[in-house]
Amino acid sequence: MSTTGKIGVTTENIFPVIKKFLYSDHEIFLRELVANAVDATQKMKALAASGEFAGELGELAVRIELDEKKKTLKVIDSGIGMTAEEVEKYINQIAFSSAGEFLEKYKDQLSSIIGHFGLGFYSAFMVAEKVTIETLSWKEGAKAVKWTCDGSPEYEMTECDKADRGTVITLYIADDEKEFAEKNRISGLLNKYCKFMPVPVIFGKEQEWKDGKYVDTDKDNVINKIEPLWARKPADLTDEDYKEFYRALYPMGEEPLFHIHLNVDYPFNLTGILYFPKIKNNVEISRNKIQLYCNQMFVTDSVDNIVPDFLTLLHGVIDSPDIPLNVSRSYLQSDANVKKISTYITKKVADRLEEIFKNEREQLEEKWDNLKLFIEYGMLSDEKFCDRALKFCLLKNTEGKYFSIEDYKKAIEGEQTDKDKKVVFLYATDLESQYSFVEAAKNKGYDVLLLDCQLDSHFVNLLETKVENARFARVDSDSIDNLIPKEDKIKPQMSEAEQEDLSVIFQAVLPKENQYFVQADNLGATAAPILITQSEFMRRYREMSAMGGGMNFYGEMPAMYNITVNMENPLVARIMEAKAADVAPAAVIPDAASDASEEAKRTVTEAQETAAAEHKSALEAFAGDNEILKQITDLALLANGMLKGKELSDFIARSAKVVEDAYLK
Ligand code: ADP
Repeated sequence: MSTTGKIGVTTENIFPVIKKFLYSDHEIFLRELVANAVDATQKMKALAASGEFAGELGELAVRIELDEKKKTLKVIDSGIGMTAEEVEKYINQIAFSSAGEFLEKYKDQLSSIIGHFGLGFYSAFMVAEKVTIETLSWKEGAKAVKWTCDGSPEYEMTECDKADRGTVITLYIADDEKEFAEKNRISGLLNKYCKFMPVPVIFGKEQEWKDGKYVDTDKDNVINKIEPLWARKPADLTDEDYKEFYRALYPMGEEPLFHIHLNVDYPFNLTGILYFPKIKNNVEISRNKIQLYCNQMFVTDSVDNIVPDFLTLLHGVIDSPDIPLNVSRSYLQSDANVKKISTYITKKVADRLEEIFKNEREQLEEKWDNLKLFIEYGMLSDEKFCDRALKFCLLKNTEGKYFSIEDYKKAIEGEQTDKDKKVVFLYATDLESQYSFVEAAKNKGYDVLLLDCQLDSHFVNLLETKVENARFARVDSDSIDNLIPKEDKIKPQMSEAEQEDLSVIFQAVLPKENQYFVQADNLGATAAPILITQSEFMRRYREMSAMGGGMNFYGEMPAMYNITVNMENPLVARIMEAKAADVAPAAVIPDAASDASEEAKRTVTEAQETAAAEHKSALEAFAGDNEILKQITDLALLANGMLKGKELSDFIARSAKVVEDAYLK
C-alpha cells in the first residue's frame, strides 16, 4: 500500500510561513521533536501502569543519532508509535480548519501556537529539506508506516518493515542549515533544552581520556542525568539537596543564601525553585539567570517580562505550562496568566523572607549584607513588595548590630526625637571619613546607622516616606546639635555687619572651587572651632543625580558647604578680638536724601561701594595674615579630606613651626 496526498492545510504552503516566522529560533526544532518523543514514551508508561498494555516495555529512552557525513539527524523513541490512521489524523491534518486565515490573524503569536496547536513536528522543516517518520504503533496487529515529505505540501505514505514499537523521525538537514549536522551544536542544544526531561535522552557514548585523546566508552551518554528537584515535594528534600541542585545549575556560582520552593496548581500551574544568590556591592549583576521550563523542557533564560524586574536578580528555575512560549515581549506583559504568575512569585518571595525573619533571624542577620541590595532594589521598584518588606527589612548600625525598622525606631525614640517630635535616624555612609562625626553623635548618646550601599541614598528617601514621623540625617550634614535640635537654643548675638565680616574672613581662606555658607553658632567651648558640613538635601540629590535618576540639575552645580563657626570656642574668640583691633568697622555713609539730584545720589552710591570694597580688602588682608584663622580652617578641611596640594604643604610647614614654638621655646 502506498498513498500520496496533500497535507491538510488550506494555505498553499505552510512551510515558508513556518520558516519565516520562526526564523530567529531555528534551533527549537530539536526541543519540539524530543518533547514529542518524550510524550509518546510517557504515554507508553501510562498504558503499562494502567494494565492496558501487558507486553514487554523494553528500554524507555529517547535516542538522538547524528550522521555528520550523511547529514541526517534521527530522533528515536520506543513510545506508543502511530498507526497509519493516526499519522493521517495528527500529522497530515494540521489542527486548523482554515489555517491560512488563522495564520494571518495570529502571525505575531505563531511561535506560541507552534507547540500548542500541533505544529511542533513541522518545525523540523525549518532545518530539514526532507523529513521521514517511521513508526509502529503499540496496538495489536498494527502495521509499521513510513511518511516522507520534502517540505512541499505533498507527502507520501507507505508501509514499512519497522520491527520495534515506537517512532524514528529522520531529518535530512538542509544545506543552508549545516550547523545542525554538527555534533557539538546538537550536543549543545540537547544540554540546553533537554537537561531535565523526564525520560532519559541519549546522545552517543560517554567519552574518556585515553592515549592522549578522547575516545568513546561503551556507556550511553545520558543528557538528563540531574534530577529536576523542583518536581519533588519540598518535604522530602534537605537543605543539602537544594544546594547540590544549585551547583548543578550554576557550576561557577557561589553558594546561595536561601531558597524558595514554588508549588501551586491553581489558578495556574507553576513549580520551581528560586535562590537568593550572594549579591556583592555592585549594581552590574548578571541578569537573566532564572531558567524557564515548560514541563521540564527548557524554554528560555530570559524571564524579564515574567517576573518583576528586581526578581531577575534571583537564580533558579520556574516551570509552568501556563506561560506562553516564544511569544513577543509585549504580548507576554499583557498576558493575564503571566501577570498572576508575576504577582504570585513576588508574594512568595516576600512570604519566604518574612518567614526567615521570624524563624531564622540569626541566619538573616548573618547573610543580610549580601541580601540587602536585592531587598532595597525590590522595595524601590515594587510598591507591594516594599510594604511587605518594611516588616523584615533590617537596618545595621555602626556597631554591626541589626534591627528591624520598627524596633530601631523604638530604640532611638527616647534620645533622638527632635523638638518637632520627629525621630531622627542618624546615618553614616563611610566610617572612616565620617569618623569624627560618628564619635560626636555617640558622645551625645545617639546611635548611628551604617548605610553604605549604592542604593542607600534612594533608599533613605523611600524610608522617609514610609516610616511615620521620622527623618533621616547623615551625621556629617550639620553639627550634632543642629541635626537633632532639642529646644530653641541661644544663637550668638551678632549684627548683620558682624556676620558679613565673619563670612568674608572665612571665605578668604577657604579653597575657591566650592561655595560656602558661613554661619555663627554656639557649640560649646570644648567643641571644634569650625565644622564643615554639606547639607543633607543638597548632598542626597547630588548623589542621586550622579547615579542617574533625572536630577541632573543638582549634579552640575558647584559643591556647596556649610561652615559653622563656633563662637564659644576660645580660638574663634581670639580671632574676633584681633579682627576688632585690626580692622576698623566699615565707614558708614548715609544714603542721599530722597529729593537729592540724580547726580548727588550717584556720588553717594559710589562712595558707599568704595567704602564697602575697602572694608572687604582690609578684612581679606587681615584673614591672610592671621595664622590662627588659617590653622583652624585648614584643620577643619583636613578633617573632611578637603586639604590638598600647596595648601596642604603650607599647612604642614605652619604646623611644624607651631610644634617647634611650643616645645623648643
Ligand atoms: P503537539 O505535540 O503539540 O501535539 P506535533 O505537531 O508536535 O504537535 O505533533 C502532533 C501529534 O503527532 C502529537 O500530538 C502526537 O499525537 C503525534 N506525534 C508526534 N510525534 C510523535 C511520536 N514521536 N510518537 C507518537 N506520536 C507522535
